Amino acid sequence: MPPFEPGWVWLTGAGPGNPGLVTLLGLHALRHADIIIYDALVNPEILKFARDGAETEYAGKRGGKPSPKQRDISLRLIELARENKRVLRLKGGDPFVFGRGGEEALSLVESNIPFRIVPGISAGIGGLAYAGIPVTHRDTNQTVTFLTGHDANGNVPHGVDWAQIAGGSQVLVIYMALKHASRITQKLLDGGRSGDEPVAIVADASLPGQQVVETTLAQLPQAIEESGIAPPAIVVIGEVVRFRTALNWLEKARGAAGRNAGKE
Ligand code: SAH
Repeated sequence: MPPFEPGWVWLTGAGPGNPGLVTLLGLHALRHADIIIYDALVNPEILKFARDGAETEYAGKRGGKPSPKQRDISLRLIELARENKRVLRLKGGDPFVFGRGGEEALSLVESNIPFRIVPGISAGIGGLAYAGIPVTHRDTNQTVTFLTGHDANGNVPHGVDWAQIAGGSQVLVIYMALKHASRITQKLLDGGRSGDEPVAIVADASLPGQQVVETTLAQLPQAIEESGIAPPAIVVIGEVVRFRTALNWLEKARGAAGRNAGKE
């Protein structure tokens, strides 16, 4: 493993939540960091892998207080690196997938702070795998598109050509999709996407409270409302959702564990 040198920032993905989904390089970083600056979506269980005496600092929203400004987080990373600390910036999923990792890395470049990127398992791939949904399968799709349901201001992204998205990709994986689900659904239907297409909503993927709701595109807003499913959640639209019936390994494993427990 590369040494974690003092004065460096390691911008690291923590995966979708399950501690087992942290990479070996991520674990190495946890074991050597002097300070860990972590986001709301990082499972606190993962912080238990930090070395004794490491400091941890929360950089997300807490108790209704507004989240620190992105600029402030970047400045904090720079400050700590200049104090010659080994700074672990820990983010949910992959730092470069809808995670503002690029913005933080650019501010480190501007300030001449050395850094490393440690990729993580993104919720839109690994999280769906925990629901038994492959993002690609040769029989169903040769394309997959990852999109966000929010822009930087929290609105439905309008830099997106929804009609092109609707018609141009067999599978759509939407991060941060719940808030604007009705409007996104409408835009996709208007763009020619079939209302019968299978959809899954996967919340708290890979965590003990993982919840999956299967529905269709036309029924998506109603399914969200009726199930009460809450963020963080990924919405996946496309034929790959049907594989879940056969590939839902996690619930099968839990069922088997339950049956075995019953025998004891
Ligand atoms: N960088 C992260 C994404 C950050 S954006 C990644 O690569 O996964 C935050 C969004 O990610 C959430 O709104 C949700 O859509 C998704 N997400 C993150 N963790 C998740 C989880 N455990 N289960 C479901 N969705 C998750």
